[in-house]
Amino acid sequence: MRVLFAAPTRLWDDWAPALQAACPEIKLCRKGAPESFDALIYAPGYPEDGTPLDFSAFVNARLVQSLWAGVERIVTNSSLTQPLCRMVDPGLAQGMVEYCTGWTMRAHLGMDLYPQDGIWRQGQTPPLATERRVTVLGMGELGSAVAGTLSDLGFAVTGWSQSGRPVAGIEVLAQNRLGEALSRADILICLLPDTPATRDLLDASRLALLPKGATLINAGRGTLIDETALLAALEQDRPGHAVLDVFKTEPLPPDHPFWSHPRITVTPHIAAETRPATAARIAAENLRRAMRGETLLHLVDPARGY
Ligand code: NAP
Repeated sequence: MRVLFAAPTRLWDDWAPALQAACPEIKLCRKGAPESFDALIYAPGYPEDGTPLDFSAFVNARLVQSLWAGVERIVTNSSLTQPLCRMVDPGLAQGMVEYCTGWTMRAHLGMDLYPQDGIWRQGQTPPLATERRVTVLGMGELGSAVAGTLSDLGFAVTGWSQSGRPVAGIEVLAQNRLGEALSRADILICLLPDTPATRDLLDASRLALLPKGATLINAGRGTLIDETALLAALEQDRPGHAVLDVFKTEPLPPDHPFWSHPRITVTPHIAAETRPATAARIAAENLRRAMRGETLLHLVDPARGY
């Protein structure tokens, strides 16, 4: 099986040995005639001259395997007709659980309430986790892993997703109950994909439904939030603080008001990374399935966009 590594060059050194070790039966190539490839391992940024990849030239490809979980820059390529699979990686999920748990605990315990300035600040004991309500928007691979961990820590977790598909131990509200999900969110964790239906979902009217002083953590996609509305909502203390890992424009421009806002914490899209050591095994499994004509894992639905 010939597989094209259609990803930026900087990724080759980490990924090629991991992919080759996980799937020794493939011939992994960096170039060649498009019709000679049976599958593509793909990441946006290829080709590196900035032109969009013409998937239609890969007439024999049975799989396009994304290296990343978010596929909004791939499903929108109109030349793509081959099955597209997104990355679901245990290392990625673990990273996201750690990121969201860390920032949740910072908000929950009030870790910023104690500047080391000689003042003895008592009377700010946080409630126990059981008295703190957390809402997770997006209960897919990442959202359900985060929700499960926070629930195990004792937090009162509510999930929200398109379908309201049940997740063990968590109450999951379906799409028409967004208002309820937001009104329960002392801490709101957003792990939604970028699709036409999620863009600017958190606008002024939705942000106004948050409890006063809520913490918003967005590690899904920046397109979810109306940025101007967020700046205005922070003035109303709904939310009281926002931790943002993803933005409409990345890198976030140096003069963007988020950088200097006292109630916004910016992290540079580092919440969770696809790790070759674990993710190569997932890609290898899909390559084998494609080779045998079997059902592919983590297939993207182009109509839904995720
Ligand atoms: P996933 O498994 O596809 O889950 C997506 C979840 O969002 C599902 O629960 C889905 O509902 C829900 N959803 C989608 N559209 C919706 C809508 N319009 N209304 C309500 N719910 C909706 O995705 P994942 O693996 O958890 O990843 C989520 C996102 O995280 C990715 O798309 C990516 O953009 C982002 N991400 C960020 C980082 C980072 O470092 N910051 C790293 C990795 C991924 P159903 O369950 O009903 O389908």
